[in-house]
Parts: sequence; structure tokens; C-alpha cells
Amino acid sequence: MRAVGQNDKKWPFGGVRIGLAVLALASIASGCGAGGGDGAQVEPAGGQQPLKAPPARALDAYATRLRAAHTARVAAAKRWGLKKVPLTAPPPPARKPRITTRDGFEVDGHRRLELPPVFTTVPTDEKILFLTIDDGAEKDPAFLRMMSELKIPYSAFLSDYLVKEDYGYFKEMQDRDVALHNHTLHHPYLPALSYARQKREICGMQKVIEKRYGERPVLFRPPYGNYDKATLRAAKACGITHVPLWNEEVFVDHWEYREWDRDLHPGDIVLTHFRGREDWEGTMPDMVRRFMDKVTAEGYAVARLEDYL
Ligand SMILES: [Zn+2]
Repeated sequence: MRAVGQNDKKWPFGGVRIGLAVLALASIASGCGAGGGDGAQVEPAGGQQPLKAPPARALDAYATRLRAAHTARVAAAKRWGLKKVPLTAPPPPARKPRITTRDGFEVDGHRRLELPPVFTTVPTDEKILFLTIDDGAEKDPAFLRMMSELKIPYSAFLSDYLVKEDYGYFKEMQDRDVALHNHTLHHPYLPALSYARQKREICGMQKVIEKRYGERPVLFRPPYGNYDKATLRAAKACGITHVPLWNEEVFVDHWEYREWDRDLHPGDIVLTHFRGREDWEGTMPDMVRRFMDKVTAEGYAVARLEDYL
């Protein structure tokens, strides 16, 4: 099966190509079964068991499933108005990358105190990006359907003052395999607060997410990306292991970049917000279209952040 894995990596559009590779394998297998005849079959030496080809029927079923999945993706991309079918991310890495704090983003004693790393990109050579969505104001059911049908992974960073308007919406998000993370109770500018108040904002949100959704987050993003040493100490005390920021931000009508090259890079974390027509000129699906059309056109797939941390 190694060949299939490689194909998957090389051709993120994989469905069809893997399907063809498997079909080819299947027909070789049945060709051998029918007796070969052209001398291609090698006799095993010295009493070894002949190599057994996998059952052709199982491969056939697998290929059919892959083809069906790809057909569904093509249809979903068309239905949601994407210019191209999203690329498929490679499988999660066998070994997670070592995440360190981005240069210039450290606080005093960051390493010595073993404070959670603050980073904007995940180290990887793969052409993948991570989509993170903040706050929780807009609660659009069409967005949940769109992301499920397109199979685009993302991570939510939630603030209770918005989420509490409808905890059920984010429960449904979680049921669709989206991880819910901490973005404080009330979305304050944290560096203006004492350690104790920062801790209440962060640990308080840990409790809300644990109570409502059964899991205590390990990822935390400070509002506006602003933090100080007390923030990271408080986050650590509340059980946070990573503080992902972002390298690009996507809006319904434009992109913004942290880097001077105004470009996407492998492993970049992209920020956006749960916003609707009240906040910007469009819907969540409009924003996703703008995001995906650029990402796919530039040869990137969207991967699941939690798989890399
Ligand atoms: Zn926010």
C-alpha cells in the first residue's frame, strides 16, 4: 500500500489518481490470477511462498469508495460555488513537529518558566494551511453544512460572552469533529489586567468549555493577539499547552498578511472570525469561498491544526 500513500502525498487531488492506481493494481492482480502467460510471473526460489496479491474484489470496492468520495467533493465544490475542488491534506504526521515560540514573540523567562509557545506557523514542508475562527458572534447553520460537505477542517477559538447566546450551535460544530478552544470569557485586552483577572478570564473559559462540551481545551488565543508574561503564566496554570496566533487573516472581501511578502507559506495559521452581514459585506460561506479559492489556486490544502500539536 506504500505506493498509494505516496500518491496521496504527491497528488492532493488524490481521489481519482489513487482510484486509478488501485484499479491498475487490481487488474494486474486479476491478470496474474488468470495465469499470466507472458512470463511476467516470477517463480519464487527455494520453497518461499509465492507473493499473494490482495483480493481484487476488496481493492475494487476501495477504488469505488474513493471515486464516490471524490465525486461527492466535486459536487460539493460546485454546489458551494468554489472555483476549484479543495485539495486533500496529507495524512497527519507520524511525529508531531516541535513547536517553538516565534522570534520576537517571547516574554521574559519564556523558556525557563516553560511557558506555552506562541507561534504563527507550524513547521512543515507540506503545502498545508490551518484555518482558525475566532469569537463566535455569527452562528450560521449554512456554514456548518458547507464545511462538512467540503470536508474543510478548522479550529474554533471561542469567547463565552458570544457563545452563550447559543451553546447548541457550537455543540453541533463539535459533533462535526471541530475542536473548540479558549479565547477568554469576555474578550478583554489582557495586558491591561492583573495576573489574577487574566487567570479568571482564561480558567473561567476552560470551565465553560469543559462544562458545556465535555473537554478542557489545551489551545488558547489571546484576544487581538495581545498578551504579556502574566497571560502566558495564567494560561499555563489553566492547563494550556499552546498559544497559536496567525500569519494571515481572511475577511469576506480581502486578505491581510503579517509578512512583508504578502504570501502564504507552508504551515501558516490563518485567522478569520464568525461574522455575518452585520459585521462585513457578506456571509460566512462568502468568506470561506474567498479563503478556499486563493488557498486551492496556490496549491495548498487545509489541514487540522490539532493533528500537528
Ligand atoms: Zn477575538
